[in-house]
Amino acid sequence: MHFKGIRAISRSLQKNETSKSDIFKSSLTRIDETKHLNAFITVARKAGNNEVTNQKNHILTGTTFSLKDNYSSEGILTTCGSKMLANYKPTYNATVLNKLLNHGSQLIGKNNMDEFAMGSGSIESIYGPVKNPWSPDVLLNPSSKDWRVAGGSSGGGAVAVATGCCHFALGSDTGGSVRNPASYCGVVGLKPTYGLISRHGLIPLVNSMDCPSIFARSVEDAAIVLDTLKGRDIMDSTSIESKKLKICLNENYDISVKGLKVGIPKECLVHGMSQEVVDMWRWAADQFENAGAEVTLVSLPHMKYSIICYHILGNVEVASNMARFDGLKYGHRSSINESTYAMYAVSRREGFNDTVRSRILSGNYFLLKDNIEKYFYKAQKVRRLILKDYQKVFGAHNLYTSCDSDDSNSSGICDVLLAPTVISDAPLYSEFITEDNRTRSAEQDVLTQAANIAGVPAINIPTRLSRNNMPIGLQITGRHFSEPKILKAAAFLEKVAQFPNLEQHFTTQLDSSNASKPILQQMS
Ligand code: GLN
Repeated sequence: MHFKGIRAISRSLQKNETSKSDIFKSSLTRIDETKHLNAFITVARKAGNNEVTNQKNHILTGTTFSLKDNYSSEGILTTCGSKMLANYKPTYNATVLNKLLNHGSQLIGKNNMDEFAMGSGSIESIYGPVKNPWSPDVLLNPSSKDWRVAGGSSGGGAVAVATGCCHFALGSDTGGSVRNPASYCGVVGLKPTYGLISRHGLIPLVNSMDCPSIFARSVEDAAIVLDTLKGRDIMDSTSIESKKLKICLNENYDISVKGLKVGIPKECLVHGMSQEVVDMWRWAADQFENAGAEVTLVSLPHMKYSIICYHILGNVEVASNMARFDGLKYGHRSSINESTYAMYAVSRREGFNDTVRSRILSGNYFLLKDNIEKYFYKAQKVRRLILKDYQKVFGAHNLYTSCDSDDSNSSGICDVLLAPTVISDAPLYSEFITEDNRTRSAEQDVLTQAANIAGVPAINIPTRLSRNNMPIGLQITGRHFSEPKILKAAAFLEKVAQFPNLEQHFTTQLDSSNASKPILQQMS
């Protein structure tokens, strides 16, 4: 049951081989078995929690999902991994949550994350770090002091899906926070075009780049969830009507990539990329070529500025977004009451970690009268150049005015871009913590950030295991609203890669070491 796909679950339910409550219970059991991985902040112990009654019989009916803890959930803790919101229970649901409940899917819990989604390892949460389930150290010794990081900032969701706690999960991707943990944890991670999924109820990090994004165990599952969530929402003025966008991967879906124009962006071969990641990238390009795709080298000359550009634009938006947490309306309030200003200051110092506070500080610095021209306006211009790089390779098209899925007559050099998601497999926790948050983010987001700056869709596909037996992933990027195309290319790669799920992998490993119990039970 744990590793079944959404279509198979739906079929079992229709044949009465299982029930919604059995599926819910089995998810709960798995959450208990994998508790030491710290993927959940809150577990919905009762089925039907928050359930909406007018559900139709949809393919998602009965499936279980979890949400990153920065999605508002009515009456359910929504902490953002922070002390500031440790006791916060929203009074409304995020649009994505309402949509999923309306389609009969069951919320199983809220996932651990880096505080306010600022990070790339899921190690900066007041609830402690998330552990990568593929890590052999975690497998053999759950109390081990070292393990491989899950990636971040949405690491809890990636772990929940990789371990079979739920069928899919939603994270938020502002610079790579879904694709990065998806790559480290061996699952599919889909960041759609900006605006395709409503952000209403997602506590913002960087409004102009935040994308509700999907973790799933297969490309087909990710497509089903995207199809359910996409569309205009009156509560989010940046959301987009998308009725014409056909996102459908049925069982007989054509995954032929013959004639597909695949670009290899040369700037993605960055310093520090491990040889095995380079080899995997080459292997993937060969697979496309052998199947009849046209593979060419392309250039995104401004991509190298995406990190620095993000640090300015991102922190500016952070400074503005975080202003709402003043200890008055909701969130943590300090006991200091000498003056209102003292109360504000101390509440914010106590409620936010160093990373959040330093980003607020630098964001305000970039906005100072003397600096705004030098930093903020310049970074906006660079953002436009990065976007233009994508438009050049994909062919100019009418941005954000339509999302007609038929982009076959575009004049671009390529249809999709192929590059690794991250430069290596998941680092050890002990190594990861030797660097500060900013340096880590710069390394971790170097291949993912530009897609958020430009608003284009991108997906991580697990491809193979590294020498450390850790997953490594490949990223496919497309033009705005080309989700059908990148999903098709991803489905092709998924088929040739035949990447095992966690259960298959550990069963094989255990078979060779003569162990007898299924591994996910041993891990508990
Ligand atoms: N690592 C980046 C940061 O810390 C991106 C985070 C994200 O995508 N939420 O800001």
